[in-house]
Order: sequence, then structure tokens, then C-alpha cells
Amino acid sequence: MLSTLAKEAAVMGEAQRLFGVLHSVSKTKAEKWTLEDCLAAAAYTLAINRFKKEQNAVILAHSYTTPDLVYGVADFRGDSYELALKARESEAEKIIFAGVWFMAETAKIINPAKQVIIPAGKAGCTLADSMTAQQVRDLRAKHPGVPALCYINGSAEVKAVCDVCVTSGNVFDIAQKMPGDELIFVPDMLMAENLENELKRRQTPKKIISSGGSCCVASSPDKTVGMLTERGLVNRLEAEYPDKQFVWPFGVCSYMKKNTLINTLEALVDPRAEQVVEVDTLVAQQARKAIDNMFELTK
Ligand code: SF4
Repeated sequence: MLSTLAKEAAVMGEAQRLFGVLHSVSKTKAEKWTLEDCLAAAAYTLAINRFKKEQNAVILAHSYTTPDLVYGVADFRGDSYELALKARESEAEKIIFAGVWFMAETAKIINPAKQVIIPAGKAGCTLADSMTAQQVRDLRAKHPGVPALCYINGSAEVKAVCDVCVTSGNVFDIAQKMPGDELIFVPDMLMAENLENELKRRQTPKKIISSGGSCCVASSPDKTVGMLTERGLVNRLEAEYPDKQFVWPFGVCSYMKKNTLINTLEALVDPRAEQVVEVDTLVAQQARKAIDNMFELTK
């Protein structure tokens, strides 16, 4: 009886902790997170946080995942570059990466000896899936000697055939540091266009040779009526600036939302094969060079 009461008190305490952060966060257009929602999440966040400690695991959550993950269980939250840095610095034995596949793959490439698990399993990404390594090889063969940059939203195989990996935060500075007046940039066509314009503006023009696709969220028709970002980022602003109002609409990345408290708990307790990230050793070694070059050129 006493232990049941103690468990209920612990769940209620956890629900109140969650509600303290999430009360200002939108769950739908019309509703905010309620204490009942937090109560439903609390048993999971308590269990996940306990297993995480017992297993010396760290949870990295991309800002586009859901707020119960971002504020309930994540040790670190951020964009793909910030999380790649955290994965590199982490001393935990196990990395749980709530994000999409290419991000968890990057964490595995940086930490080959660690177990890296992605709760959502093979969560794709429109952008990463728009380009294959063979397409990059063909492009490089057509433009011999031209340095190739790859946006971090690319598969390990694509990173392995490029010289430097970049993110939206460092792409302009890294591009400026590359030799020659031409650059290959994959797989984001929109970012390639921005890159060419920005380099012109900085008076260091380069011809950008590109191929690939675009993000289904960033290129959503919603953009035309004021989409600022992905919903998860708006949720983070709502949690961290509870006195401010943020406008809808925004895009939603359905791949990121495949990470849930339930599959995060599963990833810790008994991961399914498709949640465990493995990268071919040779591909990982080659991709690592492109990732290390990014860290080096960002210093
Ligand atoms: S927001 Fe776009 S680029 Fe980012 S993971 Fe989702 S589909 Fe990929």
C-alpha cells in the first residue's frame, strides 16, 4: 500500500515537473499541454530517465521531435550540428538519438565503439533520401577537381564521397574557405541557390554545381502564408518564452515525430534490430573524414 502511494506520488511529482515546462506549449492549434497530458507522459519519462541512468546512456533529441521527449527525457536538445557536437563529446556508453536516420548515423560514425540507437527506427528524410552516392560520384566525374560539400542531411554513403560536410550554420564560411571558383554542393537545391547568392553578396563568388532535392517541410506550400519553421522549434520557443505568443502555421516533419516516449523506452529496454544503428566500416571511415573536416573548418 505504502509503495503504491509512493509510486503515485512520484508520478504526480513528475507530471508537475513536466507541466511546469509544457503548460505554455501548444499540443494542437487550439490546445496547450494540460496536467492530464503530463500525467499520461510521466510514468514513461520516469522509467526512461531511470533506465538511462542505469545504462549510462545519453539522450539527444532534435528540436523537431515532440516536447515530451525534448523536455521530459533529453539530456541535450538542438539542431543536427549541435547534437553531432554533443555526440562527439559524450562519455556515455550508449547514445539514444531521437531524430532521423542520417543524424543517428552521424553519431555512430563519430562514435564507432558505442551503441547508437534511434527510437524511430529507419526514420527517413526527404532531403537525405533524394541523393545516392552514385549520383555524387557521377557529378564529381563530370567536374574533376572541384571540391564537393555535402549538407549534413545526407546519408553516410553520400558523406563518404564528399570532401566536407556542412550545416546551415557553417555552410557559407566553409564554402568561402574552399579553393577554386567552383563547388559541388549536395543534396539541397534550395540551399545551393542561397549559397551561390550569399557568396556573391560576400564578394567571394563561386559557381555552385548542385543536384538533389529539397526538404518536404521547408518547401511546403504553407511557406507562402508565413511558415517560419518546423512545429517543434515553435514548441521550444513556447516552452522557453512562456510569456510570448507565436503564430501558426508552420511545417511539420512527420519523420521526426516518429520518435515517441514509447519507442524511446523500448530502445532502452530491448531495442529492435532496426533501431540499432550500424554503418559499414569503410563507408564510416570515409564519411568520418568529411565530418572531421567540418569540425576542423568551423573552429
Ligand atoms: S525537416 Fe526536412 S530536412 Fe529535416 S529531417 Fe524533416 S524532411 Fe529531413
